Amino acid sequence: MSYSYEAPVSQALFDRASRVTPGGVNSPVRAFQAVGGTPRFMVSGTGPYLTDADGREYVDLVCSWGPMILGHAHPEVVAAVQDAVARGTSFGTPGEGEVALAEEITDRVAPVEQVRLVSSGTEATMSAIRLARGYTGRAKVVKFAGCYHGHVDALLAAAGSGLATFALPDTPGVTGAQAGDTIVLPYNDLDAVRAAFAAHPGEIACVITEASPGNMGVVPPGEGFNAGLKEICATGGALYISDEVMTGFRTSKAGWYGVDGVRPDLMTFGKVMGGGFPAAAFGGRADVMAQLAPAGPVYQAGTLSGNPVATAAGLAQLRLLDDAAYARVDAVSAEVRNLVGEALTKEGVAHTVSAASNMFSVFFTDRPVRDYEDARKQEAFRYTAFFHSMLAQGVYLPPSAFESWFVSAAHDARAVERIAAALPAAARAASEATA
Ligand code: PLP
Repeated sequence: MSYSYEAPVSQALFDRASRVTPGGVNSPVRAFQAVGGTPRFMVSGTGPYLTDADGREYVDLVCSWGPMILGHAHPEVVAAVQDAVARGTSFGTPGEGEVALAEEITDRVAPVEQVRLVSSGTEATMSAIRLARGYTGRAKVVKFAGCYHGHVDALLAAAGSGLATFALPDTPGVTGAQAGDTIVLPYNDLDAVRAAFAAHPGEIACVITEASPGNMGVVPPGEGFNAGLKEICATGGALYISDEVMTGFRTSKAGWYGVDGVRPDLMTFGKVMGGGFPAAAFGGRADVMAQLAPAGPVYQAGTLSGNPVATAAGLAQLRLLDDAAYARVDAVSAEVRNLVGEALTKEGVAHTVSAASNMFSVFFTDRPVRDYEDARKQEAFRYTAFFHSMLAQGVYLPPSAFESWFVSAAHDARAVERIAAALPAAARAASEATA
């Protein structure tokens, strides 16, 4: 498709970047490959807005893929960071900030009796899997197609469907041996999980699932799905790991656990808890966490784990996230969802606005989306047209039809008005799009 607007400074930066960085970006989705066009190089953010290198301002509906739940450059988070930076950026020793952040997490999320801080969601899930294997003495891991848990070798196996299909790696560089102990099952299918446990008695260390998936678009767990996983794991001697890297401290004060109340054995966190800095965590049952070095034999470590600047940012953000902040995020999410639905309906575009608490995405299909197969059946080409129309009108959406949209407590009436004003043309572009 052709784009009716240009971003010459971003394009020049992208050309420069492409000479020194594979694909010009440090994380693939940023390259706009799913939608085409020039990735926007951002230079600043304030509240709900981002400004790119060409000086154009956007209402941000990505929020750094979740972390910026208070908006960009929140003054109190910035002050906490400035204060921490001035006292030194890394000590390689324990510090009070990491204790306070761990206490904040354990206070909010009851199943987390102990927690270990790391630097990325990938590290959190990788470490949780290792711990589950060490604790149970078992090798196999169950995951669900369409659930993303970071770029952990064993978890990059998302292909394959049907009962207990052994996964083929999704990417070169992951060996059959690394993926061979991963069992990939269709999401929202408890019978498939029961069948996998029946086929591999005493072999499954854990089931890992996104607490409420947002990485195939937003596909919430069906009624009783997470509770069913918990029960099957308990009966089968496996650990139930709920990946709350995306949902944690976003979908409620206690993340998705605060929504469905199903108590996992282990949980993983990232994004919101780092306040825009690299901080993540995994935690859960004290008897399982006690297996971690130096308390126990399962090794795990990190030079920058519990970094004082990252923990200060995360702590400041979490402390600001009170009931009023969540109420605001929930309300903005509902408003934007309604506006999008109305605009697409008016243009006769088949769609489903799928929400899990304040996370949501739009599928360009009117059939129910319960798993990855369903999600992939949408008319993604309509999203491309929709995305570029919104971008041209100053609204920054995820550059892929298979990602959650994120709002913040800083999205005020003016930001919502700007979204509302852009939607009619974008809905028309979606309706006129051809494959
Ligand atoms: N788990 C989930 C559910 C995620 O959404 C992500 C990232 O989007 C990760 C894990 C990986 O986190 P990170 O990108 O910080 O490594």
